[in-house]
Amino acid sequence: MTGRLLRPGDSGYAEAARTWNLALPARQPAAVAQVANQADVIACVQKAAGRGVPFAARSGGHSYAGYSTPDAGVVVDVAALKHVSVRSDNTVAVGAGAKLIDVYAGLAASNRALPGGTCSTVGIAGLTLGGGIGVLTRPFGLTCDLLKSATVVTVDGAVHTVDAQRDAELFWALRGGGGGHAGIVTEFVFTTVPAPNPITFELAFAASRTANVLASWTSWQSAAPDGLTTTLSVSAGSLPSNNITGTWLGSISNLDQHLNALVSAVGSAPTTRTTKQRSYLDAMQHYAGCEAKPISACYLNTEPGGTISRESFRAGSRMLATNLSKSQADQVVDIMRGQRDMILLFDALGGKVKTLGTSDTAYPHRSAVASVQIYTWNAANSPGITAVQNSLTPVAGPGSYVNYLHPEQTNWGTAFWGPNRPRLKTTIQSYDPNHAFDFPQSVLRT
Ligand SMILES: Cc1cc2nc3c(=O)[nH]c(=O)nc-3n(C[C@H](O)[C@H](O)[C@H](O)COP(=O)(O)OP(=O)(O)OC[C@H]3O[C@@H](n4cnc5c(N)ncnc54)[C@H](O)[C@@H]3O)c2cc1C
Repeated sequence: MTGRLLRPGDSGYAEAARTWNLALPARQPAAVAQVANQADVIACVQKAAGRGVPFAARSGGHSYAGYSTPDAGVVVDVAALKHVSVRSDNTVAVGAGAKLIDVYAGLAASNRALPGGTCSTVGIAGLTLGGGIGVLTRPFGLTCDLLKSATVVTVDGAVHTVDAQRDAELFWALRGGGGGHAGIVTEFVFTTVPAPNPITFELAFAASRTANVLASWTSWQSAAPDGLTTTLSVSAGSLPSNNITGTWLGSISNLDQHLNALVSAVGSAPTTRTTKQRSYLDAMQHYAGCEAKPISACYLNTEPGGTISRESFRAGSRMLATNLSKSQADQVVDIMRGQRDMILLFDALGGKVKTLGTSDTAYPHRSAVASVQIYTWNAANSPGITAVQNSLTPVAGPGSYVNYLHPEQTNWGTAFWGPNRPRLKTTIQSYDPNHAFDFPQSVLRT
């Protein structure tokens, strides 16, 4: 290897072996291979795969269950493969280890954008391979919807350039099937869009109105133009509270009209209402929590200038299949009344996402109204996540987003992939017949 191979006791090993999610028990991989190039990835695959040791690629390391850092296994850390090269045809080549802030800053310099997620330290690989939901998803699609091609090292050490024509089934699987399957991506090529100048906004109503807000929000957001995207948070407690953050691509006067329509549907004046025009990069930094700071501040605080801290959390998800009636919204608020230290994050979907069909890519939730993330910062409350996830099923439906995976979920195979599961399994099986890239929630275990 040109890069470093860190073993227990080596300088840098302890940091390299840490997961993003500090609520997980500490991991001790047998080795962390900090690859420097594609040849290193091939060397790792040829040496380690198929020997019965757990084996996984790592990009940003944000896997909720730490699947990119297997205990006693080999981590192929692609973080150094982080180039972001905008081409003359406005596609962008992105190294599989780039963090979202690398992608956003690199594109913004060319006045281009890619719809991605909110957290600046998330890796482009895990995000894209699971779908990629964020504040520009409704106008432009999931991150995986803009994928044009990818370079993948498979278990036999072969390098595949996959796209709609070459290895088309693998290309289908890479768009939403979830990271960790079939091979190690070294580079993605995406279509980009002109960088927008979004208006960000925030709206909150009295906690006594939360059920009204939730019911009104689903129908309002579903009927809104694609340029309007919001996240509604419902925080647990004896009186669950609400907060809406949003992104609008359009004029301030049109936004005001849309917000007024929501306020009248809720039936009471908001307690908070703010709007701010931003550049694309400023908006991305705002959501990442490193607004008005140098780009270096948007990295993990173990890196020079970085200010972002790892988190300790448990989480899970449901996909909201339809708009909520008032009585369903009441049920959701009742569920949250019985919880503490927990938040439901309703990320609006629809828009461009639903212009593709269920089986057009491995990501199956094309008609979902929203992703509902169930999140607690209480590390001991995994049972609470399971309980809320189960309680939400009759209201939201059985689907779950593979990037917000809950390791203790029971029905995860159908929840993550729905009707696409058999095709995904067949495809992954054909590229990894001996299950070298195994992990607890691999489609090959369904
Ligand atoms: C703080 C935080 C914020 C988030 N915000 C969002 C958001 O706004 N929108 C959203 O959609 N999701 C979001 N997520 C979820 C995120 O998309 C997933 O956790 C994603 O899998 C993380 O990707 P990663 O590369 O950082 O993680 P990793 O742990 O490195 O990888 C995740 C999975 O992909 C595999 N993998 C990694 N690299 C490769 C590769 N090169 N080739 C093949 N497989 C690979 C790993 O083995 C693992 O199974 C967030 C997560 C966190 C912790």
